[in-house]
Amino acid sequence: MSSHKILIVDDEEGIRESLKLILADHYNLILTEDGEQALKVLENSSDIALVLMDIKMPGQNGLETLEAMKEKYPDLKVIIVTGYKSVETATEAVRLGASGYIVKPFKSDEVLATVRSVLKK
Ligand SMILES: [Mg+2]
Repeated sequence: MSSHKILIVDDEEGIRESLKLILADHYNLILTEDGEQALKVLENSSDIALVLMDIKMPGQNGLETLEAMKEKYPDLKVIIVTGYKSVETATEAVRLGASGYIVKPFKSDEVLATVRSVLKK
């Protein structure tokens, strides 16, 4: 079992729960509901290996949060989790420094494969 710590950021409880079911056996997880909470967690923990983050969230959206994260923590790995219709936004996220993206609805093996490959980079 890996001890990598993953920060999950999504305003939908159902998505947070799905990601938790998929990842909890393999990683240590911290679940947050928005970008502001996520940035606070990052301020207080230096051992986050990866962030999995939604784009559409109330308040600061995922792209704005991604920019803020990469400015403060340039080496932080971030995977964007996005709705099917915003693949272009996901491409923009990669341009802003995201290490990859997962399109909703996702399958558990896709999530695990993407997380594993980004953590290996
Ligand atoms: Mg959302």
